[in-house]
Amino acid sequence: MYQISRSIYRELEAEITEGRMWGDGPTNHERVLRACEAALHRLTTDRHYFARPSRTLFNDIRSYFPMSAQLHVYRVVDRYLGFAAEYLATRPTAAMELTGQKLDCRATTRKGTPCQRMPLPRNGYCPSHQHLAETEEVVLAA
Ligand SMILES: [Zn+2]
Repeated sequence: MYQISRSIYRELEAEITEGRMWGDGPTNHERVLRACEAALHRLTTDRHYFARPSRTLFNDIRSYFPMSAQLHVYRVVDRYLGFAAEYLATRPTAAMELTGQKLDCRATTRKGTPCQRMPLPRNGYCPSHQHLAETEEVVLAA
């Protein structure tokens, strides 16, 4: 994930406008890199609640690029975040390996405690709680 945020940054680096937007503080280059890292971190740890990662990251960094570069910026962001999302979706343990945190099912048990079973990468629920993912899709589709 760290490599992906670096790759996004490297592809866009040349187009970042120079200078600092607010006097002191980080340069535009640093801000873009931090925003990429934050987006990838969130994608890794909170993927199921991160609805539109490409749009979010693009909105975070677009002001550091000239108007003429906006489309390219969006395409680069979207391409790399697509890779990242696919990687996480196909490797159940990837997020755990990357963050060192154990993944738990998103559901709450009947006793009111968080379910601690291993979730499926597809939707973040364990096999016994798959029905919750289905209800969620219905709600989202409505
Ligand atoms: Zn569960």
